[in-house]
Amino acid sequence: MRCDFLVRADGSRSTCRLEIPEAERRHFFKEYPFAWFGILAEAPFSAPELVYNRSPHGFALISQRSETLQRMYFQCDPEEDVDAWSDDRIWAELQARVAGEDGFTLREGSITDKTVLRFRSFVAEPLRYGNMLLAGDAAHTVPPTGAKGLNLALSDVRVLSEVLERAVFKKDRDALDEYGPRALARVWRSQHFSYWMTTMLHNLPEATDFDVRRQLAELGWVVSSTAGSTYLAEGYTGWPGHP
Ligand SMILES: Cc1cc2nc3c(=O)[nH]c(=O)nc-3n(C[C@H](O)[C@H](O)[C@H](O)COP(=O)(O)OP(=O)(O)OC[C@H]3O[C@@H](n4cnc5c(N)ncnc54)[C@H](O)[C@@H]3O)c2cc1C
Repeated sequence: MRCDFLVRADGSRSTCRLEIPEAERRHFFKEYPFAWFGILAEAPFSAPELVYNRSPHGFALISQRSETLQRMYFQCDPEEDVDAWSDDRIWAELQARVAGEDGFTLREGSITDKTVLRFRSFVAEPLRYGNMLLAGDAAHTVPPTGAKGLNLALSDVRVLSEVLERAVFKKDRDALDEYGPRALARVWRSQHFSYWMTTMLHNLPEATDFDVRRQLAELGWVVSSTAGSTYLAEGYTGWPGHP
């Protein structure tokens, strides 16, 4: 293939990133010792907003697709076998996770999809090798807790469109130098945010009583302090003006 610029965005199983010579690339990787068991359920909304839930049974996320279709997740072992989970068992597990003093319960329905989603953080550097540019999941993945994956891919493309426009129309090839540092600043900030949300909300294997109390204190700060809730809201919605 002959081209002036090659943008490679072939997703988290990218083979493109391996084409950068080993001596000139660095891969940063973290695997978490848990996963999410995800379901799609034909059910009505259970709450007006999505629900992030930390409980002694483990994390759960109650998210929404439409008035009749809901996406829900609960923390599980990465080796969990979806076939070992009947609909009744899944609903019992989810109900146990969200049960609390407020009497909240989920509205159930038939489950149309079940998957286990592994938790990984990954960054490939550099994002540019000559005229080849990596973007999106090909260059980085985040655990899903902060919902940053697609947002980061779009952010890469926004920066890329600016530098490519200058490189193509203004013949400013140096503009390409800006892509990696600008995109990576947001990538690493999002890696930190996703890691923070993940470790605050999940049951961590081998956590001591001290770790659990510290985790609860952190969560208490987020829900009761303006500074804490603003920190989360800013990270969740994406930092305006950055990069
Ligand atoms: C269950 C789940 C829930 C998620 N929820 C959220 C969320 O709430 N918010 C959020 O921000 N992100 C979320 N994400 C992450 C988000 O989906 C990804 O970060 C995003 O899709 C990355 O976009 P991408 O274009 O880089 O990669 P992809 O969407 O993976 O696209 C890569 C494309 O390249 C194609 N491709 C690969 N190899 C080749 C080849 N050799 N030739 C031609 N084509 C090829 C693939 O078929 C694919 O279409 C979620 C992911 C999962 C799995």
